Amino acid sequence: MKLLVAIKRVVDYNVKIRIRPDGSGVDTANLKMSMNPFDEIAVEEAVRWKEQGKAAEVVAVSVGPQGAQDTLRTALAMGADRAILVQTDAEVEPLAVAKILKAIAAQEAPDAVLLGKQAIDDDSNQTGQMLAALLGWPQGTFISEAAPDGAGRVTLVREVDGGLETLSLALPCVLTTDLRLNEPRYASLPNIMKAKKKPLDVTTPEALGVSVAPRLALLKIEAPPARKAGVIVASVAELVDKLKNEAKVL
Ligand code: AMP
Repeated sequence: MKLLVAIKRVVDYNVKIRIRPDGSGVDTANLKMSMNPFDEIAVEEAVRWKEQGKAAEVVAVSVGPQGAQDTLRTALAMGADRAILVQTDAEVEPLAVAKILKAIAAQEAPDAVLLGKQAIDDDSNQTGQMLAALLGWPQGTFISEAAPDGAGRVTLVREVDGGLETLSLALPCVLTTDLRLNEPRYASLPNIMKAKKKPLDVTTPEALGVSVAPRLALLKIEAPPARKAGVIVASVAELVDKLKNEAKVL
């Protein structure tokens, strides 16, 4: 079984982002960039399937600038076998990413494509669903457990409002990861060194026949209003008084 894992380079989740003064987007200059956390979970899952003998090859793919090579090297250090960078400096929208992944899937013929449920920069939560539609493959989104049966199907569990949903999907399929699927490993130093020698191919959206021209117009990005500081009350009576007379919620 061959697995394709889509990983996005995003601003590290620990970084406090700055919005450009003109509201045109987030200023990413000199910020620490990392692998999207849900994509780390996708890489971890694929590598675990390989370690369990359920998958033969794990290919990581990223669409982004040259710097995304570092993110791909992290995936290689975690255990992916090879990587593909689809290099572009454009802001690539989920539909274009899905089309690019479809083109890569046509070349690589994977049995499953694993993605994060969402990228923490644009929070679109669209790419996996669009990819499944474009490929005409079944999809399992927000998965918290997954077990391939070795006979062409994968059983997975999704966390839905009412509880847990268990599905059986035929391969090839598209899977998107939720937080509880696994806890990604840290790459060890020897594996980071080994990853430098693993193959990393570079192509472009144009070479894959995909236009990355934007279809959406971003009107404005604003920071949420700053929260007012809270107060510590001395007694329950004071709390009730404040709720009644200041907040007027009682
Ligand atoms: P989104 O639909 O943008 O929230 O992203 C959902 C998932 O699609 C991410 O967790 C990644 O697995 C994948 N993805 C989105 N953008 C890219 C990209 N530029 N390169 C590779 N994978 C991506």
